[in-house]
Amino acid sequence: MTVAFIGNPNCGKTTLFNAYTGANLKVANWPGVTVEKVEGAIDSHGVHIHLVDLPGTYSLTSYTMEEQVSRNFILSDDVDVIIDVVDASALERNLYLTLQLLELGRPVVVALNMMDIVEKRGMEIDLHRLPEMLGVPVVPVSALKRRGLSVLLHAAIHHKDRTHPDQLIHDHPEITHHKHNHHHDFAMVYSDVLEDKIDQLRVLLQAQYPDLQNYRWHALKLLEMDQEITAKYPLQGIEAVVDRSYETDIINEKYAFIEEIIQEVVVNREERVAATDYADRLLTNRWLGIPIFLAVMAVVFFLTFFIGDMLRDYFESAIDSFSALATSGLTAVGAGEMLISLICDGIIAGVGGILTFLPNICILFLTLAVLEDSGYMSRVAYIMNDVMNRLGLSGRAFIPMILGFGCSVPAIMASRALENKTDRYRTMLVTPFMSCSARLPIYILFSGMFFPENAMIVAYSMYLIGIVVALVCLLVLHLFQRQETENILLIELPEYKQPSLRTVWISVWNKVKDYLNRAGTIIFAASILMWFILNFGPSGYGAMNDSFGAMLGKILVPFFAPLGLGYWQISLSLLAGISAKEVVVSSFAVLFDGVNINSAAALATLAASMGQMGFTQLNAYCMMLFSLLYVPCAATIATIHTESHSWKWTAFSVVFQISVAWVITCAVYQIGSRLF
Ligand code: GDP
Ligand code: MG
Repeated sequence: MTVAFIGNPNCGKTTLFNAYTGANLKVANWPGVTVEKVEGAIDSHGVHIHLVDLPGTYSLTSYTMEEQVSRNFILSDDVDVIIDVVDASALERNLYLTLQLLELGRPVVVALNMMDIVEKRGMEIDLHRLPEMLGVPVVPVSALKRRGLSVLLHAAIHHKDRTHPDQLIHDHPEITHHKHNHHHDFAMVYSDVLEDKIDQLRVLLQAQYPDLQNYRWHALKLLEMDQEITAKYPLQGIEAVVDRSYETDIINEKYAFIEEIIQEVVVNREERVAATDYADRLLTNRWLGIPIFLAVMAVVFFLTFFIGDMLRDYFESAIDSFSALATSGLTAVGAGEMLISLICDGIIAGVGGILTFLPNICILFLTLAVLEDSGYMSRVAYIMNDVMNRLGLSGRAFIPMILGFGCSVPAIMASRALENKTDRYRTMLVTPFMSCSARLPIYILFSGMFFPENAMIVAYSMYLIGIVVALVCLLVLHLFQRQETENILLIELPEYKQPSLRTVWISVWNKVKDYLNRAGTIIFAASILMWFILNFGPSGYGAMNDSFGAMLGKILVPFFAPLGLGYWQISLSLLAGISAKEVVVSSFAVLFDGVNINSAAALATLAASMGQMGFTQLNAYCMMLFSLLYVPCAATIATIHTESHSWKWTAFSVVFQISVAWVITCAVYQIGSRLF
């Protein structure tokens, strides 16, 4: 049996799904995070149940990709029961989707989620009257506190195959005069004008499409002039009935009915918690909003650097002793010099080098997860709405960009939530400029080496530059090809929540797993490859200066020279960094002959010797800048391709990012070297 979870963004579908399946999907207190349907399975009440988590949607029109994914899936025969997840603390907004689902004529069970919040606020919901008015079972649950989970599935199992309302009782006085007595068959009964038209369309549909499943729903869609349905079922004689789009009328009447429901079932109605309102007045203030955001990010950085560095010391000594142990162990068993070099200067230096940044990365993920789950990040998207509108985009476009602080791959996927195709492509193009966590090791290494005093500020500047470059690129694109935007705000502000330990843990653990995974695969492979091309040359195993790697690096030098990066070692590590950004650092470690990038003393020596090569603070800054802006990693490029279905577009975005990186870094270096 297949059960699909559908509901508005942020109503707790993924939390519910995770609670049942034990899966660790990303949960976030902002809309637009789940963009693909995710599946899992459990056995419950003796039934094998297949669960599907769908992207959040406010309605079943087919305007955005998320809505299409959800609607097509729900309409297919693959689904046995639809569980409509409703945020009980925002019943009014959530019921709109519910009414649409009921019209599909498929088995629906309502999961009234967030009951813990409702209780805490002293709100009460009449759980007897609500199912009477909707005609389907309503089960109170709390996905977070794991309450009501078993009852919900039980209801779903029982409700399978029930396509008709269980027990509809409409006893509201105003509509007793209603000409059409559908009140026993449908929860939502429209005004006489609309019901007349539905009846007329039903006759036409029955005559021309005798096999249709749900005439009422199709008639409604035709009245709304829904593109997909109108194209799929051309109807003779339709002009006489559908003289205009009745979409607004249908929406208004649905909301009128919702108002009625709310009046009857919600007791002690309280809009929002006063504290949330107060916090929002401050955090989304026109003038203070952005400075506060920048300050919050600065705190994130401070924690990442300060606490991360304290923890890093332990990691460093562990990896140091491991390396020493490996060397002496290998020597003891009589391993050759070449093997020892491969393992110690290649693998341990490369992979181990990356692992030492784990504490910093962990803290970064932890602080971002707390911010996401608390609900603050949606405020950031909200305060950026004005700016984004001016750049010709909807405010929602900033959400994928913020996700980019973690990793560009899910961030680019999140751009699906945008309605407009141009918005979507532009967002995909600039999202990689947001500094992802893989770039953090580069900043830590280079700012630590060359700016020991101001490491944190230097790294922070990279994050700011990333945001600014992304916004400026959007501005240029907008000036280049103007796009009218509807100035409506599609971001809702969810309630602030105390971040849930479990949610935060899942988020951090998933990302850490990813990071370790990369260290074990791509970075591992890249370190070995690096070691090979650096230790072998046309004349066999030998000096690095004559190796294949050096030859390759030297070819690239002219390209990088104007940026102050005209050193074959640097060129080579930047090239290798296309596989994954951390590889810039791991290959750097291999390059400088297994330099111990974990030891401050070794780094100081290295910085000094690089300084003698003419590589100074300005060069180091340019190195970080170029790393920030040039093409992200192979995985991101692959994602851009899957999302755009076009190699041409993918190639364009790669060239675009490299060009932007080159031009900006070149400008900084050329101007900088004249000033200093
Ligand atoms: P989705 O967008 O529908 O998948 O929603 P998520 O599962 O990502 O949840 C959105 C937010 O609501 C997260 O911060 C969750 O921790 C929180 N949440 C979900 N279910 C509950 C619940 O039953 N009670 C409370 N208090 N919070 C919940
Ligand atoms: Mg979700």
